[in-house]
Amino acid sequence: MSADQPVKAPGFATLAVHAGAQPDPTTKARTTPIYQTASFVFDDVDHAASLFGLQAFGNIYTRITNPTTGVFEERVAALEGGTAALGVASGHAAEFLTFHTLMQSGDEFIASNKLYGGSINQFNHSYKNFGWTPKWADPDDLGSFEAAITPRTKAIFIESLANPGGIVCDIEAIARIARQARVPLIVDNTLATPYLTRPFEHGADIVVHSATKFLGGHGNSIGGVIVDGGSFDWLADNRYPMLSSPRPEYNGMVLGQTFGNFAFAIACRVLGLRDLGPALSPFNSFMFLTGIETLPLRMQRHCDNALAIAQHLSKHDKVKWVSYAGLPGDRYHQLARKYCPKGAGGVFTFGLKGGYDAGLALVKNLKLFSHVANVGDTRSLVIHPASTTHRQLSDAQKQTAGAGPDVVRLSVGIEDVADLIADLDQALAIG
Ligand SMILES: *Cc1c(COP(=O)(O)O)cnc(C)c1O
Repeated sequence: MSADQPVKAPGFATLAVHAGAQPDPTTKARTTPIYQTASFVFDDVDHAASLFGLQAFGNIYTRITNPTTGVFEERVAALEGGTAALGVASGHAAEFLTFHTLMQSGDEFIASNKLYGGSINQFNHSYKNFGWTPKWADPDDLGSFEAAITPRTKAIFIESLANPGGIVCDIEAIARIARQARVPLIVDNTLATPYLTRPFEHGADIVVHSATKFLGGHGNSIGGVIVDGGSFDWLADNRYPMLSSPRPEYNGMVLGQTFGNFAFAIACRVLGLRDLGPALSPFNSFMFLTGIETLPLRMQRHCDNALAIAQHLSKHDKVKWVSYAGLPGDRYHQLARKYCPKGAGGVFTFGLKGGYDAGLALVKNLKLFSHVANVGDTRSLVIHPASTTHRQLSDAQKQTAGAGPDVVRLSVGIEDVADLIADLDQALAIG
């Protein structure tokens, strides 16, 4: 390439394989080594002091940074188009550290009522101990987000493709509401992944993931990641003191000033992860890196298989309804075409005419689909949310969360779709 040619940014599939990684400088290992160590030797006493004072970047202790995890962080930041990322022990830890950085006791945030059941529980119950209050809003009724805003609102939280599946949020419309309220929009992009939609391009400020699901993609490791979009002005007023006030633990440093457009990721790391401790194991980061290399291939296959199965089920005489935004005529189809034109994801729900008992029978009679609480595995998975993931919710909450008694959730894997359809057919024939 000659010097005057503009450098074209690498495409998504290239970033999925390469972003953040280079041959190991010492051993020349081609894949990213697993730096399975608790701590790192300092060059000298001055180096140690500058690392502790945040004057230099480097590794101190694997609870705070680790080079294997660092490659995972850079890769996810590149795929999402963010400025920086922070790998943590689970998706729930990613949500917790995000809110810990934004919220003070007595603050509120607005959350979509179409969320992963575990997030609904975390927000309703665990956050009480911190004095953080969720206000629930309905992504099908944008006015409910506006109506929930108060002077204590510090963030809006939605899922792009929403659990238990089949729902697409209007990210741009909700981002406009967040901007007017001058609060960051946090998008849980777990079910979509950046292959299907990149929330920062639609106005989101922070993205979180459960890497346990499609990013890792093989159902073998628990982890999470927070991505900083670099777009939010933390210093406009003093509503986010973790970022805008002098930090006593760092000699009065104001993180928002020192770290500019990646200050949020730094604050989550040096105030949240350092003090609260949900560190990601370097081994799991290695598993996620390996999984992410095939993310574009897997996601397309998940989507193609899910669409074929949704089409098949929507014609099946034991099936009452199918909720998959990839189906023309689905209420979320237009939003899916806008936000995830390559496919509407691998997770969706459908309802059985036989109700609760038929749901349990189907789960029992399936052979190729595994009955597990997880989603986003190469293997096809099934669950009956009302009796499992969503059973702690009230009947009304189950209904609004899309987990009524007749609902079955599939996470469609990357097997041969004819085998998956045959398995569903034989199980439905028994039930
Ligand atoms: C699984 C999941 C989480 C929680 O992630 P863990 O890694 O299990 O802690 C959060 N959000 C969504 C959308 C999920 O599917």
